[in-house]
Amino acid sequence: MLRSDRVLMGPGPSNPYPEVAEAFARPLLGHLDPEFLALLDETNERLRRVFRTANRLTFPLSGTGSAGMEAAFVNVVRPGDVVVVGVNGVFGERMCDVAGRCGAEVVRVEAEWGRPLDPQQLLDAHPAPAVIAVVHAETSTGVRNDITCLGQTEGDALLLVDCVTSLAGIPVEIDGWHVDLAYAGTQKCLGVPPGLAPFTAGPRALARLDERPRSWYLDLNMIARYVTGEGARAYHHTAPISMVFALHAALGAVLEEGLEQSWERHRACGQALQDGLEALGFELFAERGHRLPELTSVWIPAERLPDGMDEAAARRALLERYGIEVGGGLGPVAGRVWRIGCMGHTARMRNVTLLLGALEELFGT
Ligand SMILES: *Cc1c(COP(=O)(O)O)cnc(C)c1O
Repeated sequence: MLRSDRVLMGPGPSNPYPEVAEAFARPLLGHLDPEFLALLDETNERLRRVFRTANRLTFPLSGTGSAGMEAAFVNVVRPGDVVVVGVNGVFGERMCDVAGRCGAEVVRVEAEWGRPLDPQQLLDAHPAPAVIAVVHAETSTGVRNDITCLGQTEGDALLLVDCVTSLAGIPVEIDGWHVDLAYAGTQKCLGVPPGLAPFTAGPRALARLDERPRSWYLDLNMIARYVTGEGARAYHHTAPISMVFALHAALGAVLEEGLEQSWERHRACGQALQDGLEALGFELFAERGHRLPELTSVWIPAERLPDGMDEAAARRALLERYGIEVGGGLGPVAGRVWRIGCMGHTARMRNVTLLLGALEELFGT
């Protein structure tokens, strides 16, 4: 039997908003049914409000967050283009891989895992890059990278930002920060199962679109004809109708709560969790001042582990005894750090209290 009582406190997926279950139960419509197209338009409008943008091309891309990443690069990067990428975790690393496969000359700007990128170093890395790409919320470390001063500063460079774990969890200002291309994922702070990548591209990015990118499926020229509703809407690929219903419903829940209130709920839960962990004697991994509320990384010293358990067994005990899922560490801190998500519908004080109580019982104080 499938478990339905899990508290999903990993790096994702988070628990979906209750409205999402109703959305999945809706009768199916065709992808060109006027009723569905009206709902898609409304979803795009809701995404504009959550991304804080007026960008005409704002829509849910069919695919997970990584598809959003690939679409962002493949549509604007031509072979030989210089792409500056900030790397301080798994997802910055993935950006380098994707940009490299597009034929870019990748210029890496690195920071140690657990520390934020230096924005000035990103700006100084190359005199005329085509793109500067940064992960806003590094889910592999719990670090927030500063985006605010990177836009429209370096000649023609487009600013490309991964908002997968930041959108709806912490402030994101696509227009205010002059971000040219951004993508997110549904399963992090938006409280929807995985499957779509909310995507937005501004005028500077549209002016630089490759007319024939080397991906057919992610070709924004073709996708735009279907999703923007300008001119005749033509079939490109069949939209994942039920996932769009679900995203529409969750965005409705977020906007009804209020976007700022959603940020505040994530902030308060993250703060309570981080304070609670420190009160239990645990040390946080991400640098103070750059910690994400929605993803907390914490050192799990071997000597604190319950008798006879390694860190994987301790996570398993949390899952089996308390129904709480948390994530393990990655890269250089694999096996030594846990990643605790508090995102979307999961970001509730009762879940923080439950986890802290479970940790106290499991680890002692
Ligand atoms: C989860 C995540 C991704 C990848 O998203 P998928 O939905 O797993 O494809 C990309 N970037 C960041 C920052 C993420 O947290």
